[in-house]
Amino acid sequence: MRTVSSHTRSFRRSLETATLPLGIVVLSGCGGTAPTPTVAPPTPPLSAPSASAPSKPVVKVTLASVGLDPLAIDRSQDPCADFYQYACGNWLKTVQIPADEPAWSRSFNEIQKRNELELKRILEEAAKPGATDPVTQKLGAFYGACMDEAGADKAGVQPIRALLDRAASVKDAKSLSAVVTELHAIGITPLFDASPTQDANDATRWIANLDQNGLGLPDRDYYLRDDENSKKLLATYRDHVTRMLVLTGMPEKRAAAAAADVLALETEIAKISKTKVERRDPKTMFNSLNRPGVAKALPAFDWDGYWKGVGFPAIQDISVTAPKFFEGLQALISTTKPAVWQSYLKWQIVHDTASLLSKPFVDERFRMQQALTGQPELPPRWRRCVHATDASLGDLLAQPYVKDHFPGDSKQSAQTMVSAISAAMGSDLDALDWMDAETRTRAHEKLASLAYLVGYPEKWKAYDFPVDAKSYAQNVLRSHNYELKRELTKVGKTVDRSEWQMTAPTVNAYYDPQRNQMVFPAGIMQPPFYGINQALPVNAGAIGMVVGHELTHGFDDEGSQFDAKGNLASWWTAVASDKFKSKISCVEKQYSAYEALPGLHVNGALTLGENIADNGGLKLAFEAYRALRKDAKESVVADGMTEDQQFFLGFAQGWCSVYRPDFERMVVQTNPHSPPRFRVRGPLTNMPQFGEAFSCKVGSAMRPQNTCSVW
Ligand SMILES: [Zn+2]
Repeated sequence: MRTVSSHTRSFRRSLETATLPLGIVVLSGCGGTAPTPTVAPPTPPLSAPSASAPSKPVVKVTLASVGLDPLAIDRSQDPCADFYQYACGNWLKTVQIPADEPAWSRSFNEIQKRNELELKRILEEAAKPGATDPVTQKLGAFYGACMDEAGADKAGVQPIRALLDRAASVKDAKSLSAVVTELHAIGITPLFDASPTQDANDATRWIANLDQNGLGLPDRDYYLRDDENSKKLLATYRDHVTRMLVLTGMPEKRAAAAAADVLALETEIAKISKTKVERRDPKTMFNSLNRPGVAKALPAFDWDGYWKGVGFPAIQDISVTAPKFFEGLQALISTTKPAVWQSYLKWQIVHDTASLLSKPFVDERFRMQQALTGQPELPPRWRRCVHATDASLGDLLAQPYVKDHFPGDSKQSAQTMVSAISAAMGSDLDALDWMDAETRTRAHEKLASLAYLVGYPEKWKAYDFPVDAKSYAQNVLRSHNYELKRELTKVGKTVDRSEWQMTAPTVNAYYDPQRNQMVFPAGIMQPPFYGINQALPVNAGAIGMVVGHELTHGFDDEGSQFDAKGNLASWWTAVASDKFKSKISCVEKQYSAYEALPGLHVNGALTLGENIADNGGLKLAFEAYRALRKDAKESVVADGMTEDQQFFLGFAQGWCSVYRPDFERMVVQTNPHSPPRFRVRGPLTNMPQFGEAFSCKVGSAMRPQNTCSVW
């Protein structure tokens, strides 16, 4: 189902996230289960390296006092063999993934758990009778309606009955267009998706964007792979579609036949869809077709009726992400029987709304989720309702949250960190031996205009749709309609660069190349990423790396194609561009060699941008930390760990994670982020300062002879 975030531009890059259909935000993580046993455990070399100002007087403190977790460390592991196992090993041995989660991490999930409890407290308070201010009333009514499980159970399939009847009315291309239009207006998006996008040639301006869509599985490849695991999942999916259709009242035999039709049709849609790797190439994702071009690609669809039906008859400027997809839909619309469209639309309706309906729908939806992630239990209703409220009324919920959870010093610290990291990038650009003067000047220009936002937006969004204390389903569908209008209203207008694409309590961060802007919500400015009591090296390794990561996205394989203003315009000389390509192909090969699960390797092409950002981010954070500590009067040693070592531990401990194997498989197949243990290993093996800090021998696993370096 459409959410606020699904409206956002294709090339926004977050630090870390995979949003599951459940609406629960999860993070990539480590599938590493049992720690690797070591033959003859070496003594961890904790001797102080020469690099950090040996002449300064030493102050001795504990690891805990600088913000590190001594209990997470497995000192039986050799940090030069596998630093992730060293930094996280004991945590990995003891952590239990909660039954209602597909994965768990020491940072993202732990922070999110705290945030959820706080948001729950706010919402429970708001839902009590007697609230007088309109913000509290609206939050309370929405959350209260969501928590009314008995009401949802009583309503059964009723909230979508009229929609299912509309689906049953499809008899030709015209009626298909009409029903698709009506569904899009309430956030159910079969076939394709319409949203605004910044004009690739003029980033100050919004135009409309049409994207491929309409599959029930997480990616087109799920329909087209033929390994045993994929075949099993497809069989589960077919059974799931059948059961869902039965729940809507369809007789079992008919539902089974309809599910077969749905699977066959979605497989055809998958075949005409771009792959995730193809979608990482900005040059091919912006195709200005405009109204006549779209009508020519897909004449069977009533486009005039569509734009009128969603409320924007005047839209003219349209970019299409995949012109071949729309041409392919033309063939599908012309040849697919109306009865198959009816089944497909019914399925899409129930697929997108199941979480709003009675328990049998919720449970069946979760059964499919379970097959994809291995998660044993459905999250409790309150968690689902906290997320639903964040998705529908995010900026209302954020207001009481930031009042208590975003102390002013966080903003100041983030500013200091951003300035130090930008300065590090500036020196880095000057030192790069592979970049020519002309490209270097342009890179400096882009860096100088790179903006950042911290904490929460200047203006809160409004939510001018009625919230009914009795109908959760209706509230969500209204919210989707309101968001579609909020988004499409932008078309033809100037881009507001102060607008946020994540809510303030979100534990994440992002870079948007079309605004050349990075954003750090209040939610992530917490321990272990950032803490006022954490020592500077630890904060730099954790939140500093996050800042460096987002900044580097401006210069990764995608971001580097956008200029300082956010236009898709090359600023590279041919020579520099060739050198850059050879540098990044080293990173692609490095990560493709990582085996996540037996026989399943990290997709170096899919994860390239994130890996470049991780490598650049860690390097910049290290340089920034060194610069910020340059004039320190003393050198702090924490339980034998030097400041450099604290930096690397602060970084690695932020990524301690454990994944259920099914979930890890899904993440590796669909998510642009590498699993966390590789997000630690990859950048550290490329950084000589790490090997020096831990006195690793050249040629050891963590200090290989051959390394990759881009920024
Ligand atoms: Zn990222």
